[in-house]
Amino acid sequence: MTVVNFDIINCPYCKKENEIPLYHTVNVDVDPDLRRKILDDSLNTFVCRECLFKCELNFDFLYHDMKNKFVLYFPLTRK
Ligand SMILES: [Zn+2]
Repeated sequence: MTVVNFDIINCPYCKKENEIPLYHTVNVDVDPDLRRKILDDSLNTFVCRECLFKCELNFDFLYHDMKNKFVLYFPLTRK
């Protein structure tokens, strides 16, 4: 199961409000396009629709791969 919430985030640069999807749990068997977004670093990355400012969003994240039988947990404190 993929869990996504939509949230309003103010751009740190121009302060414009942006509604963005925040993926807390990803199942790449159900949503295979999310695997590509993880690999190209576009998943859970903030891109302002006004000024195109870009930054990583940090929060707990769970990755499910049922076909290959593994789960990865990325805690908020990762570095
Ligand atoms: Zn902006």
